Amino acid sequence: MEKSTTTGGCLCGDVKYEIDGSISPIWLCHCSKCRRRTGSAFHASAVCSPDLFRWVSGEDSIQEYEDTPGYKVRFCPRCGSPVPSYLEQFGLVFLHVGALDGDPGRQIDHHIFVGSKAPWFAITDGHPQYHEHKPRQG
Ligand SMILES: [Zn+2]
Ligand SMILES: [Zn+2]
Repeated sequence: MEKSTTTGGCLCGDVKYEIDGSISPIWLCHCSKCRRRTGSAFHASAVCSPDLFRWVSGEDSIQEYEDTPGYKVRFCPRCGSPVPSYLEQFGLVFLHVGALDGDPGRQIDHHIFVGSKAPWFAITDGHPQYHEHKPRQG
């Protein structure tokens, strides 16, 4: 498989990172927390293996907010942009797809927490929609 590098970073440019390889398919989360922290209708999420992920700059400046026990929201203290975080329980790096540069080589796969989506936003694509989390397979 061809190896591609995806880069990403925050709005002010202090925090930068790279992913050497592919990220997971993208899902859109419509939950009220994602809407609040992005100020938008949904959050575009994906994950990657920690082996592929590398901080380029700004890692030391990152601040975090513990939203619910064990779940930290991390952000750049200068511009407030969300930055990747390590999900200990899954052993994966959580990515904010809107903060990646260029084409990460993946498309939207599904929607989650559609049960709490914004009343002013209509989902018009044909991707699967889940009321809350996507049910686990197997
Ligand atoms: Zn920043
Ligand atoms: Zn969410």
